[in-house]
Amino acid sequence: MPAQLINGTQLSQQLRADCARRAAALTAQGMQPGLAVILVGEDPASHVYVRNKVKACGEAGIHSVLEKYEADMSEAALLARIAELNADPAIHGILVQMPLPKHIDPHKVIEAIAVAKDVDGYSVLSAGETMTGLPGFRPCTPFGCMKMIESTGVDLRGKHAVVIGRSNTVGKPMALLLLQANATVTICHSGTPDLAYHTRQADIVVAAVGRRNTLTADMVKPGAMVIDVGINRDEEGKLCGDVDFAGVQQVAGYISPVPGGVGPMTIAMLLENTLLSAERAFAKRA
Ligand code: NAP
Repeated sequence: MPAQLINGTQLSQQLRADCARRAAALTAQGMQPGLAVILVGEDPASHVYVRNKVKACGEAGIHSVLEKYEADMSEAALLARIAELNADPAIHGILVQMPLPKHIDPHKVIEAIAVAKDVDGYSVLSAGETMTGLPGFRPCTPFGCMKMIESTGVDLRGKHAVVIGRSNTVGKPMALLLLQANATVTICHSGTPDLAYHTRQADIVVAAVGRRNTLTADMVKPGAMVIDVGINRDEEGKLCGDVDFAGVQQVAGYISPVPGGVGPMTIAMLLENTLLSAERAFAKRA
């Protein structure tokens, strides 16, 4: 029997509707949630990403400010603008779209964002909050993957999860969130000698590599859950993930597609984090 689809588009719509309700409630009390999105340079993919994020904000009733700057903007000017946004009470989340031009240090920029507005959850402080389980902002992509897993009703306690990829923004926080949900977690990376050995034992596989067909049907335990984070193009230029979807869906119990899986969930979780930030600011004000 083919795997049950984990439909990220559908789930994200439910989450976005919930965000819209909460945004309307805050707005009615005089505090409309606000997100500032900063884009430096001309990276075409980044332009698409920020457009989608701003559009999603508008649909949820979140006030958004999109600031586009030339690629030669200085690091000092960017840091100064972030400082202004940190102090702006109408802004509850600040997102600087990566990658930045080479002359700007992304670490300095991320650390310049006030932790209370770090809705991407990329700063060292936010990473610490994710690691220790303290309230804070979970990075949007792994946060969205957890919501997808939760949506299946599968209890992670006693389950073995394998995360392929160990980036600071996806793989590592993903592993931490799975651990907090009581899964037993293995992290694989480019130096893992026999990836299939690990994935075949997994009840849940999260693939976050950025390489097509990293996970094929022979690498998956029958009935396992497979979450595909990857964004790649096939020979025909069509969007695809890291997972051989056609093959793996014949073996897995649950599978998320690309497109229509993790991508829309990442945007929904950005709205969720912005709402959380605004709700915290409101609670402080009240
Ligand atoms: P990244 O920083 O390039 O990390 C990729 C990870 O994959 C690294 O840890 C790397 O290992 C590992 N890897 C590479 N080749 C491998 C192999 N053959 N076997 C096992 N592991 C291998 O990428 P990322 O930012 O985490 O993103 C991963 C993918 O997710 C990309 O396709 C990205 O576009 C996509 N993504 C999607 C969303 C979304 O919203 N849908 C959001 C973020 C990212 P090393 O550490 O050893 O190099």
